[in-house]
Order: sequence, then C-alpha cells, then structure tokens
Amino acid sequence: MPELPEIETIKLQLEEKLTGERISAIETLHKKSVQGDTRQVIGKKIIGVRRLGKMLVINLENDLHLAIHFKMSGQLVLVSSDKKPASRQGGQATRIKNREKIRIVGGHPSGDWTGKLPSKHTRAIFKLQSGAKMYFNDQRIFGWVRVVSSLQLAEDSFVKNLGPEPWNITDDQFYELIRKRKKAIKLVIMDQTVISGIGNIYANDGLWEARIHPGRNAQSLASQEAKLLRASLIKVLREGIRYGGATTSDAKYINLDGLGGHYQEHFRTYDREGKKCLRSDGGVIKKITLGSRGTYFCPKCQIRDK
Ligand SMILES: [Zn+2]
Repeated sequence: MPELPEIETIKLQLEEKLTGERISAIETLHKKSVQGDTRQVIGKKIIGVRRLGKMLVINLENDLHLAIHFKMSGQLVLVSSDKKPASRQGGQATRIKNREKIRIVGGHPSGDWTGKLPSKHTRAIFKLQSGAKMYFNDQRIFGWVRVVSSLQLAEDSFVKNLGPEPWNITDDQFYELIRKRKKAIKLVIMDQTVISGIGNIYANDGLWEARIHPGRNAQSLASQEAKLLRASLIKVLREGIRYGGATTSDAKYINLDGLGGHYQEHFRTYDREGKKCLRSDGGVIKKITLGSRGTYFCPKCQIRDK
C-alpha cells in the first residue's frame, strides 16, 4: 500500500506534467473504480494536483476535482510523448526503451509500471489533449477515482475524518492526540483519524528512531517521548519523500527499469526481521503482528515496559 512519501512523490511529478492539460475523454473499464459523473470533467483544464493524507486530488477548473484513493493496489501510470523525462523526485520518470515516450508511475508497484497498457488491471484511462494517457490500474479493486465538487470533497467521510499530518501540529498538540488512547502506540499513529499519513513502513521506522516499542500503550508515553516520536516520524517521512518513496517487497522480483523510489534501501526495521539493529547494540530485529500488520522492532533499544 503506498504511503504518504509515495503519494507525495507522484503528486509532485503529476503536478509538473498535468497542470495546464485538458481531459479529452475518460474510458471506464471497471464501473466500481470510477465514481461520479465523468461527463462533467470532459474538456476541463487541470489547474493543480494536491495530496490530502494518502488521497491524491487532481484539481480542475469549474470547481471540480478527481479524488483518487489507491488503497491496497491502486496505481497511476502517465504515458506522455515528451522527449525529456520530467524526473525530479527519486527518478520515477523514465524513457520506455525503443519508444519516444515517458512514463510517470506512482502508487502500488507492479509489472504494469513498465508493461503494455492497458493491462487486465486497468480500470480507467484518462485521455489528455496533448495525446498523453493516464492509466488507473488496480489489481484488487479497492481503490477508486471519484469526480467531486469542492463541497463534496470537504464532506467526504475520508477527508472529514482525516487527522492532521505530524508536521502541521505542535509537540503539545501531538501529545494531546495520543496521550488518552488506550491502544498500542503503533496502532494510534497509524489511525488516519488521529494523525494522517503514517502507514506501516514509516510507523515501524519512526518508532525505532524514537526508541519506542510499537506495542507500548500510548497512554504510557511521557511528553518528552511523544516529542521525540513526532520528530522521528517527520524525519523518516521527509527521508521517504527525498528518496521518492519506497518500492516495497511485493515488487522486488520485477525489473522496474529504474522506476520507483529508493527508501527501501534505508529501512531501519521494516522488512528487516532477523537482521542486526542498525545501532549495533547487539539487538536482532524481531517481527510480531500488531493490528494484523507486520511489526518490526529491536528488543534491545525499543523496550516494552517502561
Ligand atoms: Zn537496537
């Protein structure tokens, strides 16, 4: 599942390529994946791209938006006919061999990033005036693209219940958000209604940075620990964005032709079960399951009972 840094990366890249384009047609290949009246957006100019938590929003003229949620396996592939790649974050844009076309990819990494499109996972095709095409692919069909007005967007239950991102609040506000929750701290920071944008990878790595056991009761955290945790989460998220996000385990076997981010080369604990703690403290990374998600920590520097 793509997380905040992955969505931020595709946001930055699409913003550069899509702003000023017009949507000339939308081909819906799977009804459930595209919601709202798509006829409204035909001929409309794209005026910007935003991110709301892990949701991507393409802003159009006339107060219309395409809200996109990737969920487990959603991805966007923009195929344009430019001569030069527009890469600026993590090298996610690349030239397709033997073809004078550029791809920008984002969301869940899979063979469709580089393969022939449309594929059997393509749920919608957005045709743009320049001749570029944007494919919304989604293997498991949990994701969606929704045509909405600003009002509808603001009232969308996902947007309405979205907590603040860690960099938009103070240490005191962060402490207030977590101190009354009687749940494991990792589950609290991954709850998008409490604080938004932190998924499994960055929750694991942020907790390691702050030397906090993922299973600790959120209530037991002292304000100094909460302060350190917020700083640690910001640190790993920013690093994730700098590396263009992470291209994670399920895509390891695919030759992605240099596409995708590189944060996976900088994981602290995530996906490192049985490996030595990066602090060289003699600890070996352990994997447990918390809230049905794989949870990684070092038993030496992330002590549970404090
Ligand atoms: Zn350690």
